[in-house]
Order: sequence, then C-alpha cells, then structure tokens
Amino acid sequence: VITVVRFGHRKGRDTRITTHVGLTARAFGADRFVLAGSDDRTPLRTLEKVTEKWGGPFETVGVDKWRPFLRKRKGKLVHLTMYGLPLPRVLPQIRKDWETGGELMVFVGAEKVPPDVYEMADYNVAVGSQPHSEVAALAVFLDRLTEGRLLEDSSRFKGAELRLTPCARGKLKAPREPV
Ligand code: SAM
Repeated sequence: VITVVRFGHRKGRDTRITTHVGLTARAFGADRFVLAGSDDRTPLRTLEKVTEKWGGPFETVGVDKWRPFLRKRKGKLVHLTMYGLPLPRVLPQIRKDWETGGELMVFVGAEKVPPDVYEMADYNVAVGSQPHSEVAALAVFLDRLTEGRLLEDSSRFKGAELRLTPCARGKLKAPREPV
C-alpha cells in the first residue's frame, strides 16, 4: 500500500497543483491520497470523480491532525525534499522496506515543510538536488520505485467507465469490460 501525503495546501491558490499531485499519485501506483492539514476538500472531490470515471481503487482522505497520523503509520515514511539524499542512493533500501512491510508513506510539501517532518521521516529523499515541483518529484519517485511497470500496464484500475486503447494517432476510447 502506497499512501501519498500532500502537506501545505493553500485553499484556492494550490487547488490545481494539489489535484495534480493526487492524479500523479493515482496514475503512478499509489493506493491512497491524503490531504494533510487543510479543510479544503475541493481537490479530494475532483480526485473521487476521476477515480469513478477512470477506475480504482484509489482512496482520498482529508486529515487534520497530521502529526499523529504520520506517527501512527505502518510502513516507512519517505519525505521528498531537495535537501535529502539522492534517490538512486537510497532507492534499493526503500524498495526492500516496501516489499517486506507492504506499506509506504510518501510526503510532499508545498511551501515550507516544518523541520520535524525531516526528523520524523525514515528517508529524506532528493530527486536531484535542485528545486523543482512536488508533481515532478512524486512522478519520478513512484516510477523508479515501480520500475516503470505502470507505464505499460493499467490493469490495476478496475470498474472504470472508460479505458484508453493505446494508438499511434488519434484517440481511442472504449468502455471497460465489467469486473
Ligand atoms: N522551499 C520548500 C522547502 O523548503 O521545503 C520546497 C518547495 S517545493 C515547490 C514543494 C515540494 O516539492 C517540496 O516540499 C518537495 O516535496 C518537492 N520537491 C521540490 N524539489 C524537489 C527535489 N529536488 N527533490 C525532491 N522533492 C522536491
């Protein structure tokens, strides 16, 4: 089980990017999206609609008391930050932890991430030591973790109203077979 935690969402201003973090989490293999420390439920509603249309399972949750939530986690906590250790250096150990424990929590920020998150994290991981985006960091991390498997195989998405048939040109949509 992979849970992506999005922290620091600013109502209104961050709606689009928070939704994109959630879409990226879903598309690249996470099972759960947690919006931490925000009472804005707009991105969660959007993600629920996307899951209805394009398949699941994909759980979306808002969590206010996010510190106890992080502390009570089952698997390891990976905090994506440009200040962390390079992804290739820590990936083998993270994958081993994930495969043995079956759970992983991936934390991404928006503006400033509180210092205790760096302490709470089992791994502070840099996707390159340059500032960029939570969407990019999450996509690269999940793609590396899953070794690109989800780029070829979308069979994990069940019960969708629609599925796409890959084609060289144009757009091919077909109703998904019932599950
Ligand atoms: N300046 C902020 C800080 O000090 O934490 C980071 C702002 S950045 C726009 C928002 C989020 O993108 C970060 O919290 C982190 O999760 C992610 N991020 C940005 N660049 C990253 C990198 N090179 N490696 C890993 N994560 C990164």
